[in-house]
Amino acid sequence: MAEVKDYDVVIVGAGPGGLTAGLYSARANRKTICLEKYLPGGQIAKTGDVEDYPGFEHIEGAELAMKFADHAKKFGLEIKMEEVAEVYVDGDYRIARCESGNLYRGRAAILSTGGSPVYLGVPGEEEYSGKGVSYCAICDGAFFRDQIIAVVGGGDAAVEEGMFLTKFASKVYIIHRRDELRAQKIIRQRAFENNKVEFIWDTVVETINGDGTRVTDLSLKNVKTGEKSTLEVGAIFPYLGFRPNSKITRENMRTDQGGYILTDEKMETSIKGVYACGDVRAQLVRQITNAVGDGTTAAVAAEKHMEELGDKFAERTK
Ligand code: NAP
Repeated sequence: MAEVKDYDVVIVGAGPGGLTAGLYSARANRKTICLEKYLPGGQIAKTGDVEDYPGFEHIEGAELAMKFADHAKKFGLEIKMEEVAEVYVDGDYRIARCESGNLYRGRAAILSTGGSPVYLGVPGEEEYSGKGVSYCAICDGAFFRDQIIAVVGGGDAAVEEGMFLTKFASKVYIIHRRDELRAQKIIRQRAFENNKVEFIWDTVVETINGDGTRVTDLSLKNVKTGEKSTLEVGAIFPYLGFRPNSKITRENMRTDQGGYILTDEKMETSIKGVYACGDVRAQLVRQITNAVGDGTTAAVAAEKHMEELGDKFAERTK
């Protein structure tokens, strides 16, 4: 039987942004729920080692995710496994409708729905994820010092991140399925001038191979000649694009061309009382640290929004 439940704040997505928003909101004595379709943690739950979250020189992604969730729960955040189908506005309510049919009504909603990289979809990719397959050069590049690294893709991200990886790698191969880059001219030019970067054109990765614990090499195929080859690498970074999970509101919410949600400095979206934080939001970087900052701002801004609304719903959420 579907239920209607009332909260002050309804958070969608239990990644670092959502859990931080939950911590701040629950600690401010607001009745707060965070709805998550899988386990708490979002992408970090699937990340191997984290070395760039202040205060933790090294921590496993899954452990950090549990710490975020436990910390927020200690202050009263409710975390529930529910897949949210849509978020919509009904007067002063911000409502999350779940696939189960349940409705969670809040006075503010915070979207922390993240996104996901476009995967190569080849054998070995999932098996070696976090063991040499990574989608984040800033997070994981430093683990592969003095090793050969492959990047896949021909867009701005592949070429820029490939150049970033030359700080650590002995050599970076950028493997592209065509013989022309999609990346902007200025970015292309810098890569052509970088003597640690070598392009492998007209080529796709067929399999990612390893020794069971880490990536050792890639099986490649030239799509024009059909020629097959092996490339020894310590890591592979596919940069085939990123898809933000932003198509969740019934109302039209402003996004940029890539589908990332546009917010103001309070993390408020174009829908009043609906906030966004973390990877789903349009911003320069997608890191745990800035998702946490976004979550803080969103929770504090939601609090101010509720103060403006007044206490007309206070009884309801006691
Ligand atoms: P993108 O521009 O969509 O490029 C994706 C690349 O991956 C393309 O080269 C594509 O090849 C390739 N690709 C896609 N699927 C593939 C597959 N299955 N196998 C092999 N290759 C595959 O994505 P992006 O580089 O992440 O950039 C996304 C947006 O962010 C763009 O608008 C970009 O301009 C922007 N961005 C800007 C900057 C900057 O300005 N500094 C930095 C990063 C990103 P094809 O070319 O053959 O389609």
